[in-house]
Amino acid sequence: MENAFVFEPGPTSCLSTYDGRLFPLRRIYCVARNYADHAVEMGHDPTQEPPFFFQKNPQNLRADGVFPYPRQSSDVHHEVELMVAIGLGGRDISVDHALDHVWGYGVALDMTCRDLQAEAKKLGRPWMSAKSFEHSAPCSSIRAATETRHPQKGAITLDVNGHRRQTGDLDQLIWKVPEVIALLSRDFELAPGDIILTGTPSGVGPVAIGDTLDAKIEGVGEMSVKVVAAS
Ligand code: MN
Repeated sequence: MENAFVFEPGPTSCLSTYDGRLFPLRRIYCVARNYADHAVEMGHDPTQEPPFFFQKNPQNLRADGVFPYPRQSSDVHHEVELMVAIGLGGRDISVDHALDHVWGYGVALDMTCRDLQAEAKKLGRPWMSAKSFEHSAPCSSIRAATETRHPQKGAITLDVNGHRRQTGDLDQLIWKVPEVIALLSRDFELAPGDIILTGTPSGVGPVAIGDTLDAKIEGVGEMSVKVVAAS
């Protein structure tokens, strides 16, 4: 007898690309504390710690310029980040070949419930509630690396209601994109559709309902996101 689905599979989560196609999403990896000045502002010594990772879910990403403020938090922060889209999978990828696995780049916001994260840190619990909540990653379209090349420097900024809050440069990443891919692929099988959010520069801070967030990475892209009340 032919195997039947118990229920019809849901839609595949996708981001759009600058050339008008859809990029189907698989796993979403995020790097913590990858800019020295942000590590310092969060009370950590950036020189002592190797990178560590957490995940969001493909369904957490949205690209329609809207961020519904989650009801379970009263201290949601913006974190502007370079998004790396993997187009070629692999295991134990070398630093030298890592960029061959990148399909493109974009701009993302790793929205964070700072109150829930502080509680999790205090209790030694995972960050899931603080990081992987619904709608927690507003994203731009993905621009192919054939257009952007592989940016190693360029301003990364976030404005709230027209006021600059975060400023950094991609050349300040502690662990560069090739190193992040190599490290991730030692522990995980990377595959097309995987996304990596590479960490945020300093200046993180709270958002409020009604705010407009303008995120931009020189040479990669930009997006505008409106913070709205959760429905
Ligand atoms: Mn982050």
